[in-house]
Amino acid sequence: MVDKKGKVWLVGAGPGDIGLLTVKGKQVLESAEVVVYDALVSDEIASLIPSSAKRINVGKRANHHLVPQEEINKILLMEALEGNRVVRLKGGDPFVFGRGGEELELLVENNIPYEIVPGITSAVSVPAYAGIPVTHRDYTSSVHIITGHAKKGGSSRIQYDALVKMKATLIFLMGIGALEEICKSLIEAGMNPQTPAAVLEKGTSAKQRRVIATVETLKAAADQAIIQTPAIIVVGEVCSLSDSFAWIEKQPLAGIQVVVTRPKEKSSTLTEKLRARGAHVIEMPVIKTITIKEQEELERFSRSFDKISEVSGEQWILFTSPKGVESFFSLLTVTKKDIRHLYSMGVKFGVVGNATRKELRLHGIEADYMPDIYCGKELATGLIKEFGQNPYVTLYRAEDATEDLVEVLEDNKISYQDVAVYRTLYLIDEELATRISTGIESKMIDYVMFTSASCVKAFTSCLTDIDYTKIKAVCIGEQTAAAATKFGIQVGVSKKATIDSMVECLSK
Ligand code: SAH
Repeated sequence: MVDKKGKVWLVGAGPGDIGLLTVKGKQVLESAEVVVYDALVSDEIASLIPSSAKRINVGKRANHHLVPQEEINKILLMEALEGNRVVRLKGGDPFVFGRGGEELELLVENNIPYEIVPGITSAVSVPAYAGIPVTHRDYTSSVHIITGHAKKGGSSRIQYDALVKMKATLIFLMGIGALEEICKSLIEAGMNPQTPAAVLEKGTSAKQRRVIATVETLKAAADQAIIQTPAIIVVGEVCSLSDSFAWIEKQPLAGIQVVVTRPKEKSSTLTEKLRARGAHVIEMPVIKTITIKEQEELERFSRSFDKISEVSGEQWILFTSPKGVESFFSLLTVTKKDIRHLYSMGVKFGVVGNATRKELRLHGIEADYMPDIYCGKELATGLIKEFGQNPYVTLYRAEDATEDLVEVLEDNKISYQDVAVYRTLYLIDEELATRISTGIESKMIDYVMFTSASCVKAFTSCLTDIDYTKIKAVCIGEQTAAAATKFGIQVGVSKKATIDSMVECLSK
């Protein structure tokens, strides 16, 4: 009999910031077949769950009630017995008030193999992101992590007098509901009411907030700030360091969370640049581009290539995107055409902008023309201005490319062939789309970045039940902006059609 047993990975997702997920955690997550996660797992991290994986949300957000612990244990067992690679993704570290231990019991009983991937616990990372070192030789020699959550009906079992005697840093998780009682009990047990204390909300996320006060004033200060969960309470002298050590707020894009919609293979530069400036980025690739390789299309491509050698006079090949270049060369290979043929004809190459020029360079060709403003219309207009009125133009570009480039050619009576070499597919991830709608409505997400009109169309087709006028977007150029405006989206346009210019636009 085939052993159909799967395996379970108990993975700590960290406190929220995607950069605080461990390398191992990310690896395991990306090859998961089933992911069981709860409410503490951030949208940034959830966006890493492969779209092929079955997702089971056992958190409160799902349908406003928690899936009971026994139920979760059973889900893990059943999914593993079906032979799946199951990732149980938990906020922070699975063994720090994470019930990780309870979830293993049934697996052990049933001989299911498992691994534990520890995570960065909120107990130390949330203070760090607020400039609070949980230990410091001048102030404290121990740290205590305590649950502030009393069992239903019963009073809490915290030994306040013991804690106070230690002169330690005290970190309370799940304590916001009991904040008043915690502070009062500490003072009653002999703590100096002037002891520095802090409440840290949504730590390591774009919207993290810190309230620094004393044990005596903390409750009032937290109320005034309308602190919400998740939040931790830190009590101890180290809290006094927060004001001078706080660093997150100093980053240029601190507090901003954006959605990047470009295809995954291309999103990394934009994402990296935004994150380097302190922004939080949720990647939601809404399109995918594929080279068109159906037989009929291959024949069309071959004919277009042959046509170039039949026409006399000046010849130009124009590319309006890096993908156009990539697909052109991939089709050359498939159809066994030889690029040297074009060289012998003296064919010239025009590119829409720098990214396309770079892609062409990868194939050993230096573009003969690139306009100052990176758009198709400028490419055609500039070409005509600089090189006269009668070249023959071949366009290798997207199937659904915009018409403005060919309109310029037609207005100037220039002969051309327009060859579709790649196609744009819309990717729909309903779960992520719902998270993003909620994020926009609740103002957890501030901006959506659009790098093409097709990204706008694909994004809006994913998010159907949101009021588009609530969305603020940064668009790469006028064409993309026009597409977004059509949906009523509030639009900011980058000065130039480059990633750097988009980042600059957001910074402003
Ligand atoms: N296993 C988790 C803790 C789970 S208990 C860990 O290691 O972090 C849940 C509590 O953790 C919340 O009530 C809150 O007190 C704290 N918490 C988790 N993430 C947090 C965050 N990003 N900011 C502030 N508190 C957080």
